[in-house]
Amino acid sequence: MDLIRNLNDLRARVAAWKAAGQRVAVVPTMGALHDGHLSLVAAARAACDRVIVTLFVNPRQFDNPDDLSTYPRTEDSDRAALAPHGVDLLFAPDVAQVYPQGFATTVSVAGLSQGLCGDFRPGHFDGMATVVTKLFTMTQADDAFFGEKDWQQLQIVRRLVADLNLPVTVHGCPTLRAADGLAMSSRNQRLSPADRATAPALYAAMRDAARAIGAGQPVAQALDAARAQVVAAGFDRVEYLELRHAHDLTPLDRPTAPARLLAAAWLGPVRLIDNIGLEA
Ligand code: AMP
Repeated sequence: MDLIRNLNDLRARVAAWKAAGQRVAVVPTMGALHDGHLSLVAAARAACDRVIVTLFVNPRQFDNPDDLSTYPRTEDSDRAALAPHGVDLLFAPDVAQVYPQGFATTVSVAGLSQGLCGDFRPGHFDGMATVVTKLFTMTQADDAFFGEKDWQQLQIVRRLVADLNLPVTVHGCPTLRAADGLAMSSRNQRLSPADRATAPALYAAMRDAARAIGAGQPVAQALDAARAQVVAAGFDRVEYLELRHAHDLTPLDRPTAPARLLAAAWLGPVRLIDNIGLEA
C-alpha cells in the first residue's frame, strides 16, 4: 500500500489505473480506523479493481474546536490496520493540499442538511459535503463506500452526487457493532470505562422503541420512553431521538415505510450517534 499526500501523485496513479480499464473505489475516512472502516474497505475490494482509502481529519466539518483538537490521530496504526486488506493507496493530504490559499467554495445540500445533526452541529454538513465532493473529484473514483452509521451524511452524499452529476456510484454499508451493540466509532476511544459500559444503552433503547412502534405503540410515546431510557441509563443528554423517512428525512408520526430511527446523545465528553431501520 502506497502512501500519497500530494494531489499530482494521486492523479498520476489513478490515470494509469483508468488507462488500464480498472475500476477505482474510494473509502473516505478521518482515520482512527476500526472494524467498521475495514468493512467498507472489504466492500470496496469486492466491487472494484483498485481501492483508495483517504485519511483526512477535515477541519471544516468540526463545529466544536475541542472535538477537532481531541479527535484521535493515529496514522501509523491506521496504516498497519489497512496493510492486510488489499488497499492500493492511502491518500493522506495535509490541510493546505485540500484547502489551498484562497479556497472559497462550499457545497451545501439544502433540506437534508437541516434537522437532526444539522441542528446541533452548525456547518458540519456543509464542511462534509465540500470535502466529499473534493475527494470525489481528486480521486476520480468510480465507486465510493460510506457507512450507514452516518445515515444523514449518506443521504446528503447521495443527493449531492445526483445534483452535481458526479460520475461516482455511492454504496451504503451496514453499521458494524461491538458484541454489546454499541456502533463502532472512532470517538468510542474517548469513552471512560464506565461510560463505555453505559454506551450500548442508546442502541438498546432504540431497538426497544422500534419494537414498540412495530407493535402498534404511538410513535411519540415510544420515542419519549426511549429518550427517558437513555438518560436513566446514565447518558447526560439526548440531543434527538426521532423517527424519520429513511431517505428524505422528513419527520414521521406514523411508521410508514421506509422509516428510520435516528439518535444523538452525550455521554460525558463524547457525542454518540446511531440509527436503525424500523424493522430492526
Ligand atoms: P469517519 O472516519 O468517522 O469519518 O468514518 C468514515 C466512514 O466509515 C464513514 O462512511 C462512516 O459512516 C463509516 N463508519 C464509521 N463507523 C462505522 C461503523 N460502525 N460501521 C460501518 N461504517 C462505519
